[in-house]
Amino acid sequence: MASLASCIFCKIVKGEIPSMKLLETETIFAFMDIGPIAKGHCLVIPKHHAAKLTDLPDDQMGDILPAVKKLAIATGAENYNILQNNGRAAHQEVDHVHFHIIPKPAEAGDKEGLIIGWPTQRNLSKDDISKIFEEMKSKL
Ligand code: AMP
Ligand code: ZN
Repeated sequence: MASLASCIFCKIVKGEIPSMKLLETETIFAFMDIGPIAKGHCLVIPKHHAAKLTDLPDDQMGDILPAVKKLAIATGAENYNILQNNGRAAHQEVDHVHFHIIPKPAEAGDKEGLIIGWPTQRNLSKDDISKIFEEMKSKL
């Protein structure tokens, strides 16, 4: 199992830093977020150390979504966001892949849970989108 000595989430997996463990399988670990932005905010991480989702081998991913689903149910929240940040500009602070489960109470507004300021649509023409589409398809 790849781990990085200096990584706080690897230390949590190894039990070197305490955590409120919710779930564990051969490949994933889930625990309460220590800086919650909503009641029930928790995290699922692969045990394998990878900074970004794109660095994570496919064979380490299988248990992640089922765990996310179980935890979302366990929060009891009717509304919730699943968030996974990659890179500083995208608000990633801990460089070990993690999925946030963040309940969003219906009346919370900007008092609890994720606040999404969805940007206004980029001014891309159908032609622009089509070019990007062809470029992306060529890389799959
Ligand atoms: P991100 O900005 O996506 O990298 O989120 C990192 C998350 O990790 C934040 O929500 C932190 O509150 C959380 N976090 C950092 N250190 C710990 C820790 N030792 N135990 C639990 N959660 C942590
Ligand atoms: Zn790590």
